[in-house]
Amino acid sequence: MSVLVLVEQADGATDELSLQALALARDLGSPVHALSIGEAVTGLGAYGVETLHVAQDDRLSTYAPAAWAACLGQLADRLQPSAVVAAGTNRGNEVLAHLAARRDLPFAANVIAVGSDGTVTRVRWGGSLLEEARIDSDLRLLTVAPHMVEAATVNGSEAAVEAFEPALDETEFVVRVVDHAETPTAGISLAEAKVVVSGGRGVGSADGFGMLEELAGLLNAAVGCSRVVTMAGWRPHTDQVGQTGTKVAPDLYIACGISGATQHIAGCKGAKKILAINSDAEAPILASADYAVIGDLAEIVPAITAELRKAQSQ
Ligand SMILES: Cc1cc2nc3c(=O)[nH]c(=O)nc-3n(C[C@H](O)[C@H](O)[C@H](O)COP(=O)(O)OP(=O)(O)OC[C@H]3O[C@@H](n4cnc5c(N)ncnc54)[C@H](O)[C@@H]3O)c2cc1C
Repeated sequence: MSVLVLVEQADGATDELSLQALALARDLGSPVHALSIGEAVTGLGAYGVETLHVAQDDRLSTYAPAAWAACLGQLADRLQPSAVVAAGTNRGNEVLAHLAARRDLPFAANVIAVGSDGTVTRVRWGGSLLEEARIDSDLRLLTVAPHMVEAATVNGSEAAVEAFEPALDETEFVVRVVDHAETPTAGISLAEAKVVVSGGRGVGSADGFGMLEELAGLLNAAVGCSRVVTMAGWRPHTDQVGQTGTKVAPDLYIACGISGATQHIAGCKGAKKILAINSDAEAPILASADYAVIGDLAEIVPAITAELRKAQSQ
């Protein structure tokens, strides 16, 4: 039986997390259909998509969760897939939750694997446990945990593109995005950055983040932070890494003055390497770190920045 995948876009291309969702979806059924809202994306054939359906309605130019769920539901009615899959992004989880509520269907979020007997393995409690569950339904709704499944290409030809005109009531647009606020890290997305320089309470103040910004600038990195920092109003919530923030998977995560609470580690444990800078040699983050510098970050961070500048000027 077929499988239907909601694909999200970032800067006109398919979002990396949607490509990861497609990799898992291929194990759930065939052929793979994809739904893109508003605009077509190219290159999905290489990820195993046979047909890309593009939902078209002028009102879909901005994100509206109920409207997206209506599009997905109407296409599912037509295609009768065995599963509807989305990336485990805020949007993916929200849209599938809407669809599940409308259809009174079970929904498994943050799945990382599907067994041959249909059992799903999913991440729970901020990544501290894996749960095996059976979805008791003819139509399975699931999202794929970010950065837990690798996006992989297959030898597929270009996907056929079909326009799809959903029947959408005005009430579907009651909740919709009306504005976008620029974030301080505009340009380098926290979720996609190869290097993240992150600060916690130990940074001491909003101004203290200036030295982290400087280091990040030299490393082409994004700046992240802990929840203590967002609660104190030093940085916006969009910068928060963790269970209730962004999940990151950079090559290098530099944690400055962050203790390493489980809720924070839930957001950065996908990093290939973690460097902790902390004045406390017993800080819990050292259990997750690959490298550590013990000392005052107000001395260590500028020292690293100075060395980088020296190396870059040679
Ligand atoms: C439901 C729930 C969800 C949560 N979600 C998140 C989340 O998404 N993300 C998140 O981050 N937290 C989250 N938290 C909060 C989490 O439990 C911790 O409270 C928080 O991560 C601690 O932030 P911190 O490491 O910056 O501060 P602290 O725990 O206070 O640690 C500060 C660290 O800085 C070090 N330090 C101090 N001064 C210096 C210095 N001059 N130089 C070097 N090091 C120094 C200290 O040794 C210490 O290790 C959540 C909590 C709950 C209950």
